[in-house]
Amino acid sequence: MKVKIINCLEDNFSYILIDEKSLDACVVDPGEAQPILKYIEKNKINLKYILNTHHHHDHIGGNNILKSKFGAKILAFKDDKERIPKIDFFLDDKQIWKDGPFEFKVIHVPGHTSGHICFSFFNEKIIFTGDTLFSLGCGRIFEGSYNDMFNSLSKLKKLSPETKIYFGHEYTLNNSIFCDKFDKNNSELKIKIANIKKKLDKGMPTVPSTLKEELDCNIFLRAKNLKEFSKLRDLKDNF
Ligand code: ZN
Ligand code: FE
Repeated sequence: MKVKIINCLEDNFSYILIDEKSLDACVVDPGEAQPILKYIEKNKINLKYILNTHHHHDHIGGNNILKSKFGAKILAFKDDKERIPKIDFFLDDKQIWKDGPFEFKVIHVPGHTSGHICFSFFNEKIIFTGDTLFSLGCGRIFEGSYNDMFNSLSKLKKLSPETKIYFGHEYTLNNSIFCDKFDKNNSELKIKIANIKKKLDKGMPTVPSTLKEELDCNIFLRAKNLKEFSKLRDLKDNF
């Protein structure tokens, strides 16, 4: 399985997963159609599914065009029925969904939005975390409580440490400044920041990260309890 990173809009990441044998593909969070269309047509792949982590426009903006052009089916959380148009398959928490080479588990992670899900491709040890877990950060809490977000991140912490994390936005540099400020003596973090800067200097994305790196370096995953997490989230909102 190949994961192609597609830059969308200002700083969004969309991802095309391609089965290299059949050239069948899924797209995760197409924020806009154009860059996805371009890649699909150039590489002659068959877009079968559109996977949405949550209903925000910067994650679903390309849905309609991709659906009508390729007949791709939309997969999203069942409770987002009213706010993601034209869903074909309603997903539930912990559901395992499989079609041919594509097999993933749904992890419901309320907090950023109430219907946010992550797609865990457990065979490949790849997860798409949308706006819940970023590299060195986590999503703003718009529709849930601190407790919701804290519990959602705790679910992700249980995955195998070598899991590759594909997140929804290139916020990593700004996140790293925050982590560095409030976690001064973390030597793993310093190594991670040096690597991030190297990538960005070369014009490369900072995606993917790994769960191990995030467990070591992401201050929101390192928070020991709800109180500490909530305080950090407040600080970050005003950072
Ligand atoms: Zn969002
Ligand atoms: Fe977003």
